[in-house]
Amino acid sequence: MFKNLINGEWVAGVTASRNINPSDTRDLVGEFAQADAAQAREAIAAARAAFAGWSQSTPQQRFDVLDAAGTEILARRAELGDLLAREEGKTLPEAIGEVARAGNIFKFFAGESLRVGGESVASVRPGVGVEVTREALGVIGLITPWNFPIAIPAWKLAPALAFGNTVVMKPADLVPASAWHLADILLRAGLPKGVFNLVMGRGSEVGTVLLEDPRVDAISFTGSVATGAKVAAACVARMAKFQLEMGGKNPFVVLDDADLNVAVNAALNSGFFSTGQRCTASSRVIVTAGIHDRFIAALAEKMAALKVGDARAKGTDIGPVVDDKQLAQDLEYIAIGQGEGARLVAGGQAMAHNADGAPGHYLTPALFAETTPQMRINREEIFGPVVSVLRAKDYDEALALANDTPFGLASGIATTSLKHATHFKRHAQAGMVMVNLPTAGVDYHVPFGGRKGSSYGPREQGRHAAEFYTTVKTAYTQA
Ligand code: NAD
Repeated sequence: MFKNLINGEWVAGVTASRNINPSDTRDLVGEFAQADAAQAREAIAAARAAFAGWSQSTPQQRFDVLDAAGTEILARRAELGDLLAREEGKTLPEAIGEVARAGNIFKFFAGESLRVGGESVASVRPGVGVEVTREALGVIGLITPWNFPIAIPAWKLAPALAFGNTVVMKPADLVPASAWHLADILLRAGLPKGVFNLVMGRGSEVGTVLLEDPRVDAISFTGSVATGAKVAAACVARMAKFQLEMGGKNPFVVLDDADLNVAVNAALNSGFFSTGQRCTASSRVIVTAGIHDRFIAALAEKMAALKVGDARAKGTDIGPVVDDKQLAQDLEYIAIGQGEGARLVAGGQAMAHNADGAPGHYLTPALFAETTPQMRINREEIFGPVVSVLRAKDYDEALALANDTPFGLASGIATTSLKHATHFKRHAQAGMVMVNLPTAGVDYHVPFGGRKGSSYGPREQGRHAAEFYTTVKTAYTQA
């Protein structure tokens, strides 16, 4: 039984949840403690009590803990990657890459803890000095989704701790193992008791306590739009600071002048890798008329060669869908697309077993063509390996279609035209824009986030993370 971490102690839950391997549902990854509301409140009390000490710790202390955690994560990337692939279902190389990203994020924010600075500004009044500095916010509640079981906890936790905050984290119910190991690593890296508390449990119970308890100063949330709306309402009601990273319906534009190989590989990667379960996945591919048929034929050919199977088996390109609920949602959208008159070019078949006969939630990547912008498959986030192609007559129409969505996380284009690439970078209504690259797969040291319905509040990651995890103080001194 893997326990919760509250005030530096491993504490049994009130109940337990079973973490099941989606590649082989006979395989139990482990049993994980489930906290109730009272335990969540104990964790908040511990974080509150630890804040005075940690917020006054030296940058060197914070550097040492974060750097040691980063070193251990990187050293154990193969083992932790295997565990991540087993609990979430992304392929082993993808999972190991995600663990390495988490390790690098801890290293990056170890450095940031040494670079907390400020500015000294001339006052408009004689003899007065003005200093602008950043301070820790307080207790931060972190609520994370299942699709990046270690990277998302890392990119919230590392800056929270680097800037002197204390934390209560509730990971997604489906993937507690990676978060548990993060807690274990941080505790052994020398984090004082209460600075980081892990409470595994249901969103409606543990999550709600984090949103409503006045001792939690801020909430950083990544997950679905529906839950994000609840987070926002609860935080506004008590005026807590909050940050939301939510869904996407990311477009990838392919122009007539694109290098066909570059375009197809980018669409294949960002549409289907990680089983399409990335918020930055491109689920709408907008292709101009001159290259449209060639692009579809080449993409379908590459899709046919993708191997769907056990996430940890050698040669697997696409692992399983994370669970039966998500698989049912993917299949429902495939039926909706067909019902709306879209042409299913390839895939979309559920497979109850993999090639070795293991039971799992498998789905062959699905490609729709001849779709229209108003179809539900082009407006709503499916969050599976399902891509729809929209035909555009030229660049201007392609750009308009790309922006015709309530979301605005990532947006990509394949083109050899400097003019169109430059225009697209400027006019794509998204937080992240990619030229001749997949929309998914980003660096760990630069801002991450979107606009419109995808995100709310300051950016995550890179130096911009300080915006959320600190509060600004302006101090005036009369000499
Ligand atoms: P989800 O909204 O179902 O759950 C996210 C987290 O919120 C989980 O920990 C869950 O237990 C918790 N939660 C659920 N109900 C709650 C409540 N009432 N109060 C407080 N917490 C509650 O999302 P998910 O299914 O885990 O993740 C998939 C979604 O995440 C997709 O929409 C995807 O696009 C999005 N996502 C976005 C980003 C991004 O950075 N924009 C990154 C990854 C995933």
